[in-house]
Amino acid sequence: METAILNNGVIIPKIGFGVYEISPRDTKKCVLSAFECGYRHIDTSFYYHNEAEVGEAIKASKIKRSEIFVTTKITGAKTYAEACAMIDLALSKLKLDYIDMMLIHWPSGDTINTYKAMEDYYRAGKLRAIGLSNFFGKELDKILNSCKITPAVNQIETHVFRNQKTVQKMLENKGIITESWSPLASGENNIFSNSTLIEIGKKHNKSAAQVALRYLIERNVLIIPRSQNIAHMKENLDIFDFVLDKVDITKIEKLSKDEPLLGWY
Ligand code: NAD
Repeated sequence: METAILNNGVIIPKIGFGVYEISPRDTKKCVLSAFECGYRHIDTSFYYHNEAEVGEAIKASKIKRSEIFVTTKITGAKTYAEACAMIDLALSKLKLDYIDMMLIHWPSGDTINTYKAMEDYYRAGKLRAIGLSNFFGKELDKILNSCKITPAVNQIETHVFRNQKTVQKMLENKGIITESWSPLASGENNIFSNSTLIEIGKKHNKSAAQVALRYLIERNVLIIPRSQNIAHMKENLDIFDFVLDKVDITKIEKLSKDEPLLGWY
């Protein structure tokens, strides 16, 4: 698995396994399957209602803790104390001594004090990296103007239909890595039967999904695709043995409208 280095030197696998909308009943089994396929980076959130099951899978896997990278997210705390309680809850649900990366899931509540709490837990060694998700414009500036620790990532909607090249450049200039949520556009817009992606895939003997993910990896965007299908889990990891050429990239970039496709941020 290829890795990237966050702005504090922490190493993160470039591909993670996203567990949004995986029911608590299925999560432990899915995460264990993902580990078997080779994933070592899991992306969850308080709002996915499956942190406890992610924690159970980590324990059951018997993989060394240091080999697994876990991201979770909080939001909505109205005070510093509430944010601390949310971080404590995440640690206890995941049954971990530390969390690899904690993000503010989206701007809500007192984001400055939430971020301050995350900075204090970072200093205490309970969070190895901290960052943001869905922060743009004024909300992003508010954190950047008050923080002591620069966010490691901003996890935002990024895929072939919304490639976020301009935002990525702005973040990169501030030392923040772009992490893609819904790197497969959550399956929307007929991405898997998109004729451009299929045509490029044929050339490289890869699927449309693999072309869409490879495009992000080549731009140094972190990705966290989700699937409950083991063949797809493997397929989404198998993207390091081909390289897109300039013609491919020009065609892929014509697909992007740079506006929200999934209707959140
Ligand atoms: P995704 O873009 O990963 O797409 C998932 C869909 O594609 C599913 O329907 C899956 O069955 C299908 N799929 C996956 N691999 C496939 C393949 N190889 N061939 C065919 N179909 C395939 O969707 P997502 O879950 O919306 O996003 C991924 C992760 O991003 C989430 O699980 C979550 O961890 C994170 N996320 C974060 C936010 C945020 O606000 N921070 C928002 C949405 C998602």
